[in-house]
Formats: sequence, C-alpha cells, structure tokens
Amino acid sequence: MNLKRFLVCLSLLSNFALAQHPAQHKKTAKAAPVTRPKADPATAIHQSALIIDTHADTPQRFLDENFDLGQNTPVSEGHIDLEKIKQGNLGAEFFSIWVEPEFKGHYAQRAMDLIDSVYQQAARHPDKMTMAFSADDIARAHDQHKFAALMGIEGGHAIENDMRLLRDFYRVGVRYMTLTWSNTNEWADSSGDIQDPNVKHHNGMTDFGKDVVREMNRLGMIVDISHVSDATFYQALLVSQAPVIASHSSSRELTNQPRNMTDDMLRAMTNNGGVVMVNFYSAFIDENYRKASSDPEKIKQRDAEVDAYKKAHPHSDGSPVTYEETAAIEKKWAAQFPRPPLKSLIDHIDHIAKVAGIDHVGLGSDFDGVTSLPDGIDSVADLPKITQALYQRGYTREQILKILGGNFMRVMREVEATAKRLQEERKESDALSFEDIELMVANRVSAAQLIDRMRQHGVNFDLTPQRRTRLRDEKVDDSVLDAIVKARKK
Ligand SMILES: [Zn+2]
Repeated sequence: MNLKRFLVCLSLLSNFALAQHPAQHKKTAKAAPVTRPKADPATAIHQSALIIDTHADTPQRFLDENFDLGQNTPVSEGHIDLEKIKQGNLGAEFFSIWVEPEFKGHYAQRAMDLIDSVYQQAARHPDKMTMAFSADDIARAHDQHKFAALMGIEGGHAIENDMRLLRDFYRVGVRYMTLTWSNTNEWADSSGDIQDPNVKHHNGMTDFGKDVVREMNRLGMIVDISHVSDATFYQALLVSQAPVIASHSSSRELTNQPRNMTDDMLRAMTNNGGVVMVNFYSAFIDENYRKASSDPEKIKQRDAEVDAYKKAHPHSDGSPVTYEETAAIEKKWAAQFPRPPLKSLIDHIDHIAKVAGIDHVGLGSDFDGVTSLPDGIDSVADLPKITQALYQRGYTREQILKILGGNFMRVMREVEATAKRLQEERKESDALSFEDIELMVANRVSAAQLIDRMRQHGVNFDLTPQRRTRLRDEKVDDSVLDAIVKARKK
C-alpha cells in the first residue's frame, strides 16, 4: 500500500468511525469549545416538569368577550393565552365552568355554553392545544408538546338538583365539580354564606348531596371541596371513596379567610390522599391584603359602583350582566391595595407541604378570576418564578415536580381507578337501576347487550308508563322494554 492509498484508506475509516459516533465527532472536531451558559437548576426543573393548574376562569372571557387564546393580550386584560402558556410551560389547565347564581333558571344552559367555549378554543388551535379527559390524556398531550385543556364545574347548583345532568356533564368532558361556589345550594352548604341567617343551610350536605358525591366517585369525576363550608368538607371526605381535591384553596392558618383550609382540614386531606391546590389570590394568601381589602366601607363603595354599572347597562334580552363586564371596576378597586410579595404565596405552598405533606399540595391559580395577584406573578407566564422560589427554599427537584403537577396526576389516576372499581362492583352485585339503563342507552350499549345484563343482574325498578315513554323517546327497542318487565318479575 503506498502512502497515498494508505491516507485515503485512513480517511475512509475515520469517516466511517465518525458516522458511527457523531457525538464524538462534534466533540473532537470543535475548534474552540463554546462555553454555553449552563441553565440554572430551577429553570431546568421547570422546563422538564409537567405543570398542571386546576383553576382558571378564562371560559367567561371566551364566551362573553369573544376572547381567543391565540391573542397575546396585556396582563391587565387577562392572565392566560397560548403565548403566556408557552412562556410559563403550563402543561394542563382546568378551565372553570363557573355559573353565576344570577343565571337562576338557566344554570345548565350557561354551563353548556361555557363548556362549548372551551371546545371551540381547542378546535381553533389544534396544533397547539387539545382537549383532555384523563390523566393519560394529559400525559399524551405533554409528550406531543401540546397544551391540555380540561374542565371543572364550579358550583354544584349547575346540575339543577338532577343526577342525570351530573352524568351529562361527565359525558361532555367535565372532570371535577366544586360542590358549591360561594352560594349554598339545595344540597350543600358553602363557606361563602354560612354566616348569613337568611340562607337555608343543611348542616353540611343533604342525603341527595351525599348521593352526588357517590355518583361522582362512580363516574370518575373528581370531588372538589374548595368553597364549601367546614361541615360540608368533613362530610364529603367521609362519603367519598376516592381522593378529593381543593382546586383553588389556601391556608387559613396563614390567611384567615373562611374559604381557606384549617390545619385540621389539611391533615384530613392527608388521610384522604387528596391534594390541595393553592390559590394565588392576594386576599387568600396575605393577611395584610385581606384585612385592607375587607374594609366594609370600601366594599360597600365597590358594590355600589358595580350595581350602578349593571343598572346603566342592562341586556336587552334580560340576561344578567356578567362578572366579565364589571371586572374592570373590580380590578381598579383592587389596585388601591398594594400587592403582597411573592413570598406570601410561597409561604402557603410551604405551609401546606409541611402540614398536609409534600404529596398533598399543588397549584390552583384562579387566573382570570381574581383581581389581584402577588408581586411578580402577572400571568401564567410567571410560573417559573414559583419554581425558582421553591428551589431557593431548598425544595428538591423531585419535590418540586410533585407540587407542579405530579401530585395532581396521582390523584386523578386514583379517582379513575376508583370509578373503574365501583363500576365493576355495581355490575357484579347490584340489580340495575333505571338510571343504569339510561346510562347504558346513552352510551349506546346494544339492545342484545342490555338484555343480557338485565338477565344477569335483574332490575330494581318498575317500568312505569313515564319511564316507558322516556325510553321510547330514546328509541329503545321493544325487546328491551319486554326484558325489563321480565327481569323485574324474577
Ligand atoms: Zn372559586
């Protein structure tokens, strides 16, 4: 082999070697090593995390203001849009389906309109976001680098005292329900009006209320105890067979707000296996802000201004003036009190992590639903500052990942597993109720299968003319109706 051929050969060989080890090639071939600034550990943790926030009131903006998540709006107008979501590395948001009590008589319709508004956003931005209905959906969206949109109903009055509506909401994708908002409903007491003697209370929950919790367990809808009275809270924990969440609640020990959670409640959450998602609202996380902003005279003045606006701008169709329309007045009013430091928010996360345990704390911002946020948190884009602050307090990567979303994922999976178990148990042991049949019909179970199940389990109801009509309206086959009568006789 002459020298030239040897060199060619050598270069071929080295090319082959380089092709096999491209990384090594990069390393050795670099003339002058570029020293890239190493990302600080907190940023690295934040960027690698699956971050889940369980409460944002943005659907009102979608519906009442025609707001599109693709618009990059100033923080003074809104806390959430796709650009800010990207900056904050938010993986999943539970959009709140909050029905203002003013919609009395039309609760379910208002809820459905808000639900539709969330789907519309997902349909408009399929490359950036997707609807999600399970823990697996959230994980999948995260793998695809898409933002996952979920929905939770805020205020049990939305089901209009009807178990069927509860199931319908599950079917259209609602995955948690806050048993009450600030208003006591006909089956559960709220912390918002528990001192009001003019409101009819139930000493916690009625029997129907407890059935609602049981049915939520069976469906796989997470029971949310934010906003409820203390008695409702303890009763819900006794009844629920699955872990519960507080979708947006902070610590009462640190900030004396009746809708925050006492240390005893936090410890009860540990036993339940649930998770407390910390609310960012200044008045819930900072005692100074809470005291300043609860001055009765100042509240009176704000409420008068809101009422005056409502009177001056009535809707021609008689529908209520929404929170969205008067939000500007409330925001301006709230701005007169200095914002609390970010430290106040971190103190709440810290306190709940200490009292309930590191496995029982998460984030429930209340973005787009509150008029004041701590200093430095102007929108969802500022979430990395929370990770930074936790890191500085000595939280480990593993602990921070739990707070940012890991704890919630665990609870959602447990709720799903409980539902699966309850549905199987019911199938095996119980005679079918009329509602079971309706559920199966709605889920398009075939006539043959329906008849088979009734033969196996029997039914526990009479086929009254009213029920017969209802099933006929659902186009249920006559053979099924006959089978019901037979199964009942057995
Ligand atoms: Zn709320």
